[in-house]
Amino acid sequence: MRDSAWIGIDFGTSGCRVCAIDKSASIIAQTEQSFPASSKSYPSPQQQSQFLFNTLKTLLSQLSELDIDSISIDATSGSVMLCDFDGHPLSEMLMYNDQQAIEASEDIAKLAPAESAANGPSSGLAKLVYLQRLFALPANYFLLHQADWLAIQLGAKPGFTDYNNALKSGFDVTNNCWPDWLSALTPLHVLPQVVTPGTVIGELSTSVIKALGLKQSTPPLIKAGTTDSLASFIATGANKIGDAVTSLGSTLVLKLVCQSPVFDAKRGIYSHKIGNRWLCGGASNSGGVVLRHYFSDEQLVALSQKIDLQMPVEDYYPLLKPGERFPIADPDSPPRMHPRPAEDHLFLYGLLSGIARIEKAGYECLQQLSKTPLTSIRSVGGGAKNAVWTQLRQSLIDVPFKPVQHTDTAYGSALLAKDGLKLFQ
Ligand code: ADP
Repeated sequence: MRDSAWIGIDFGTSGCRVCAIDKSASIIAQTEQSFPASSKSYPSPQQQSQFLFNTLKTLLSQLSELDIDSISIDATSGSVMLCDFDGHPLSEMLMYNDQQAIEASEDIAKLAPAESAANGPSSGLAKLVYLQRLFALPANYFLLHQADWLAIQLGAKPGFTDYNNALKSGFDVTNNCWPDWLSALTPLHVLPQVVTPGTVIGELSTSVIKALGLKQSTPPLIKAGTTDSLASFIATGANKIGDAVTSLGSTLVLKLVCQSPVFDAKRGIYSHKIGNRWLCGGASNSGGVVLRHYFSDEQLVALSQKIDLQMPVEDYYPLLKPGERFPIADPDSPPRMHPRPAEDHLFLYGLLSGIARIEKAGYECLQQLSKTPLTSIRSVGGGAKNAVWTQLRQSLIDVPFKPVQHTDTAYGSALLAKDGLKLFQ
């Protein structure tokens, strides 16, 4: 009998990454294809399908001795389109950052609870309502999220989605239903059936198996995926209540595994369901974007080494422009980055310390609202490799800082393909 492999596919903001793991969850192959830098817009649904096939084919060429057991896909959250009951597109895909649906979002705000993730012009629901008003549609069609569209390309039936992707389309994850208030905005039959991530939603179609040149007797299963942020969280290895992940990328993003959900629209805090746990998250306007404004990555490395953590530090709130959303929600909150010391490393010390204090305040806020004590932190993103910053953060937040298993989002999806519903128990 041949050994098995499980495949995770990540459609992020800049490209498609795929990763295959074996039964011990070790990576056995991975590849990626970036979207062309020359292209100003995100690839169309058809182009995404092409990227998916090309990248998968490259990966599978490295796995010819193995049987593919299951595949799972994560993609950007809040990117949606419409298709007919056979899965043929009826609209373009409105991407995660599309802001056209402002009018629709104003109508949603009159009906949706303030804490619903369906609020705001970039929500899946706002885009659905916008598309419905844009042109005449047939009586029967489905709302698709990006991950649903890609799963259909592999052979999944239209009409299914997972509860992480469905959150921004208005799905009530607490009560596990599409809420009644939605019926004033959209016919309910266009909303997909919502399943737990990891649920088997189909198998690779005969034509796809042929196109990919797969030679195995049983078709690989397709398991419902999740959003890119959830898959990236799964990849880190954090999963127990109290585990947290700090993302030190362009923005500072905190996520804490909680026993109860927190929805606080004013502060942009919302919660994804992970089985009987919740992943509560908030994002500050501060973060690496401020560091990059003043210093190159090379300067950040060199200057960090000059910092003496025993020295006093300026009390900064690093922002590029006024306005903070989390942990304090204040659209007028001013940046505080003065006085600027003559020496650059002291200025950087102030910035790193300021962001670390926002992290501390952010976790205090999440702990208080979710009634969940923080027990560990894993760090990801460009700033995570800065050892001086880690030391500074550790001196402020007294919990173990744990190593991150994997930073590759596609690895999180590969784990979802392998462990399926077990990850979401
Ligand atoms: P994103 O994917 O959100 O754009 P990344 O995870 O790629 O972000 O991280 C990029 C950010 O990391 C930049 O804003 C940069 O300033 C910051 N960064 C890079 N190197 C360092 C470093 N050595 N110390 C602190 N921050 C760093």
